[in-house]
Amino acid sequence: MKKGILNYTHQELVRELSLFGLQKFRVNQIYQWLYRHGVTEFSSMTNIGKNIREKLEESFYIYRPKISNIAKSKDGTIKFLLELCDQNTIETVFIPEKHRNTICVSSQVGCSVGCLFCNTGYNGFVRNLTAEEIIGQFLIVKDYLNLWKSDTRLSNVVFMGMGEPLFNFENVQKSIYNLMRDEEHGISRRRITVSTSGITPKLKEIIKDLPCRLAISLHAPNDLIRSQIMPINNKFKLSELIDVCKEYSQYQKYLKITFEYLLLDGVNDSETNAYELINLLTGINAKVNLLQFNSWAGCRFKASQKNNVLRFAKILESNGIEAPIRARRGEDIMAACGQLSSKK
Ligand code: SF4
Repeated sequence: MKKGILNYTHQELVRELSLFGLQKFRVNQIYQWLYRHGVTEFSSMTNIGKNIREKLEESFYIYRPKISNIAKSKDGTIKFLLELCDQNTIETVFIPEKHRNTICVSSQVGCSVGCLFCNTGYNGFVRNLTAEEIIGQFLIVKDYLNLWKSDTRLSNVVFMGMGEPLFNFENVQKSIYNLMRDEEHGISRRRITVSTSGITPKLKEIIKDLPCRLAISLHAPNDLIRSQIMPINNKFKLSELIDVCKEYSQYQKYLKITFEYLLLDGVNDSETNAYELINLLTGINAKVNLLQFNSWAGCRFKASQKNNVLRFAKILESNGIEAPIRARRGEDIMAACGQLSSKK
């Protein structure tokens, strides 16, 4: 059976292809074809000998998910519904901005964490994505936007689509290594962000060598509120999560942790909550992204009122915490935070 070549990191591929008698510099060339030029056929790798290409063709395939549907927002955001080999579907979002182009990728089909404000969690968990299915999202978006020969780059990658990345960390990590590997054309670690709901034991395990930026889906300033909207908090308490974040701040002195905070009307958006949050984050090199809630059918929460959002931001900022109010992107196509779903 053929194997997916995108499931391998560079190191793994060097090992695997040494069985074919290929040297490291050949693997480097293959890597460039895959990740710098985006080829989907081994026959296009023109500086590789014909007999090697044929051997590769016999043993491997180059994966791409199938685009099942595309929705374009009036703000330029594009949402892709991608079909995988087993007919499961995931969503990936392209978000163009003035100085950067971000792709929001999924790490699982569905999600088992079950945050009450999130459409993905509401629809349950199906399975983890493989490394090629994760990296394939990045590659298919580049194919679709015709970016392989363009000066326009997909500059930022955020693991904030469907799924909890730390429940599928091995494959997430492989895809990050492949995204970063090319020194000239790869993505810098500072432009890749993994976002977690706070799987504390896993976070502790990886904290020292996390190859990228860290974001925490926090959404509450205390255990009482967090447990009500994020059941995972019943298992992994806020105090432990904050302790790991403090540890991270010591290892990564110059990298801020981003705390995602979705403002929900009457739930977590009071003046008291803002001061609680300031206390909670003391000692952490933190930035708080204030997110405005995007509703979906069947959800019981409402977005905070504008004056409450502004008050919350002002309290944080006046206490020295950077707290941008994130613009809603792709709301009209259900592509905004918490709205993704694998339903066709
Ligand atoms: S917010 Fe993230 S972790 Fe929570 S249910 Fe949704 S996808 Fe899962």
